Amino acid sequence: MLIVLLGPPGAGKGTQAKYIAESLGLVHVASGDLLREHQAKGTDLGNEAKTYMETGALVPDDLVIRMVLDRISEEDALKGAVLDGFPRTEVQAKTLDGHLGESGIDFVLLIEVPNGHLVERIANRRLCETCQRPFAPWETQNCGHEGLYQRDDDKAEAVINRLKVYESQTSPLIEYYQLQGKLKNIDGTNEINVVTNDLLNAIK
Ligand code: AMP
Repeated sequence: MLIVLLGPPGAGKGTQAKYIAESLGLVHVASGDLLREHQAKGTDLGNEAKTYMETGALVPDDLVIRMVLDRISEEDALKGAVLDGFPRTEVQAKTLDGHLGESGIDFVLLIEVPNGHLVERIANRRLCETCQRPFAPWETQNCGHEGLYQRDDDKAEAVINRLKVYESQTSPLIEYYQLQGKLKNIDGTNEINVVTNDLLNAIK
């Protein structure tokens, strides 16, 4: 089974993808996390991606496509995957469709959150240094680790650019998947567990 989570930055894709993948026994493949891992390891891909990511721009399609297709071909992804943050452009979506062939994507779940909420959500997002779980600055860090940080691209200027990039390059995928009859819309403004239930119900 292959599920794509679509939605603007700050919609909660990462949090929800993790829950859904756990609940369905699928792997969670987050292109942003994979790129950040490459950066941390100092690979050529990580170094190349860094300049784009810092400003909130998209990393070139060919680099991201190869990285994600390799990841979903690994043994643990044979049962399926929840894709989070990929595809983000029409080229990525079409290449993914071509790669999957007949079997194709099963569901595309669009998590909808109005723009006004997103800026505030991202500005208040801190991540656990160990497990990357998000917390608001006023929340108790209850993941069993200590230490929170703010992603550089969660700071004001990059966020505004990321939202613009979403509008111009990623939101056309809504129509692309609507036309394929695969898209389901989910209200992302509800409590986290309500959104999770709505997502799981949408794929029953
Ligand atoms: P995310 O963690 O999904 O918010 O992604 C963080 C950053 O990684 C994005 O702002 C992009 O610079 C880059 N990135 C992640 N996924 C993609 C993708 N599918 N295509 C291009 N760039 C990506």
